[in-house]
Amino acid sequence: MITAEIISVGTELLMGQILDTNAQYISQRLTEAGINLYFRATVGDNHDRLFHAIQTAASRADIVILTGGLGPTEDDLTKETAADVLGLDPDFVPDEESLERMLARFAQNRRIMTENNRKQVMFPKGAIILPNENGTAPGCILEKDGKAIILLPGPPREMRPMFDASVMPYLRKRGEGIFCSRVLRVYGLGESAVEDKLRPLIDTQTNPTIATYALTGETTIRVTARCQNKEEGSRLLEPTIQAIEELLGHVIYSSDGMPLEQVCANLLLQSKKTIAVAESCTGGLLASTLISVPGSSAFLMEGCVTYSNAAKMRRLGVQADTLATYGAVSKETALEMARGMRKSAGVDFALATTGIAGPDGGTAQKPIGLVYVGLAYAGGETVHEMHFVGDRNRIRELAVLEGLDMLRRHIQEIE
Ligand code: AMP
Ligand code: MG
Repeated sequence: MITAEIISVGTELLMGQILDTNAQYISQRLTEAGINLYFRATVGDNHDRLFHAIQTAASRADIVILTGGLGPTEDDLTKETAADVLGLDPDFVPDEESLERMLARFAQNRRIMTENNRKQVMFPKGAIILPNENGTAPGCILEKDGKAIILLPGPPREMRPMFDASVMPYLRKRGEGIFCSRVLRVYGLGESAVEDKLRPLIDTQTNPTIATYALTGETTIRVTARCQNKEEGSRLLEPTIQAIEELLGHVIYSSDGMPLEQVCANLLLQSKKTIAVAESCTGGLLASTLISVPGSSAFLMEGCVTYSNAAKMRRLGVQADTLATYGAVSKETALEMARGMRKSAGVDFALATTGIAGPDGGTAQKPIGLVYVGLAYAGGETVHEMHFVGDRNRIRELAVLEGLDMLRRHIQEIE
């Protein structure tokens, strides 16, 4: 089984200015390619420390993958240092194809190419060049004595396509078998409860393996099979996925990683139904989450952010009496908001949110995190009283998830 290590290069990463999303991306891809990853490192733009990091990684792993430091400036020294570690000829040669591509790019942008840019298309002799479709610095693979060092640019929008187009095929060739995985997503049952229910499966797992992890308000279950190809992968995954579905039932809202808003969008599209939203504490997040799904104009008709009592009355027809008697954060108000929205928008469904997101405004009767989510539909309505824990934005996100899950369950006729 071959192993890889990742080294992210850049002082800005060490200073915390930039989050190392490249390492995450590459890690995920390595898993898919069936390659073991035991170590990951971050190093600043410093020759000696980088040399040491590459040497250490290359002493343990078959493949060392570096991102960052391929640019034109003085502090971009990844390529030189990697060649140094492998003991390659320090006289780099230009890659003509990359040079032409770079000249064309500068001409297209009407920019003058400065001399130091040439550095980006100079490589050790024998390097495998990885073309950059989205920037000027190509990547490369340096091989010596069965070891490979793969050099990739830092900007994620350049690194990712390069990785998929050029590095993945290389890795697949070297890897033994692949990993196939599927992600099941759960709303309404926490990670420990999910694990508890899956315990009999988890305890006997070998291939595929089952792992759970928590996201905001939800739990995901990753099922991973080691296999030779995708078909074998599906064959191995299917029975385990079915067993999980049987144990957990309707709290699973998707078995292929699909987010809840997309699941709701599909349900609305399939049933040719429309929706509108009336939001207080979520302040547009519910509408925005639905709108993030491409094609949402087919089902989302409108959204109102009715933050004040006056707006709730004027826009949604909430009764002054209701607000005076029960308060803005109440079952009654949430339902009147949903009802009013559904009627004025002429839609099949309306969701409404009202709650106390904090950090101020909580009382003993109505503490921070108290949220009512209402759903109005033809011939009925439901409201859920939720007690969320977290900061302001987490409470808003959780309220959105609850609303979407109420919609999903209603359309799927669960409960
Ligand atoms: P570099 O290739 O080192 O000049 O990096 C150029 C830019 O790419 C940096 O300023 C960051 O914005 C971004 N970048 C570099 N490394 C990473 C990384 N590991 N994860 C995410 N972004 C990165
Ligand atoms: Mg850099």
